[in-house]
Amino acid sequence: MSDVPSKGEIHVVHLYPREMSIYGDLGNTRCLASRIRRHGYTPVVHQHHPGAAFPEQAHLVVGGGGQDSGQVRVEADLERIADRLRSLFDAGTPMLMICGMYQLFGNAFITVEGKRLPGLGILDVTTQGNAKRMIGPVVLDTEFGDVVGYENHSGSTTLGAGQAPFGTVRAGHGNNGTDGTEGARSGNVFGSYLHGPILPANPALADALVALAAELATGAPFEPLAQDDAFADEARSRQVRRLVKRG
Ligand code: GLN
Repeated sequence: MSDVPSKGEIHVVHLYPREMSIYGDLGNTRCLASRIRRHGYTPVVHQHHPGAAFPEQAHLVVGGGGQDSGQVRVEADLERIADRLRSLFDAGTPMLMICGMYQLFGNAFITVEGKRLPGLGILDVTTQGNAKRMIGPVVLDTEFGDVVGYENHSGSTTLGAGQAPFGTVRAGHGNNGTDGTEGARSGNVFGSYLHGPILPANPALADALVALAAELATGAPFEPLAQDDAFADEARSRQVRRLVKRG
């Protein structure tokens, strides 16, 4: 351990880790905690469970994927904490929502059986469940460069007019398999279907979230430290080389 003083605490809230955290999405929280520490800040991780008081401090909020049944189990609590999440969104709090939680940050998710799960509407997207799932490795073009991951969803998501995607599909299905978009971004809230988990293989995205959170937490500009991302960079470029056809 170093005796360099911490640059400050960054509070990370993981929404519904029991119900909504499959295909390794818990790794996003672990990755954020580790990168926050490696940049010289102190991570404080809160797990938010249904029925619990929402943590007082929240500088970064993450949520993962889950079965449709997991989404049903968190619906009532999400409605209960909706105003808090909306005010954190208005304040510019960075958030990363994957798959099932991405769908619930949209307007609604209609399951393949026709059950309508209303969402927060922070992202202007609507998702319809289908009998055929979209499964496989993905490569995206994003403002953070190539982003790689793995998708597995029955939901087909449509962006509202004017809603920015998170990225465009270089390989894989993305939001719906037809329009070439993947995920959504509004302000500092990012939604994506990419598991893997997404952050360890895509450190530029992880650091963008950490930078926003650090500025919110400390009121001062983010002071990054140099990181060795050789393994992540190699893993990402291998997936790009394997999946993206040369034009
Ligand atoms: N139940 C949703 C779907 O299949 C979400 C899946 C997930 O989070 N992996 O579309």
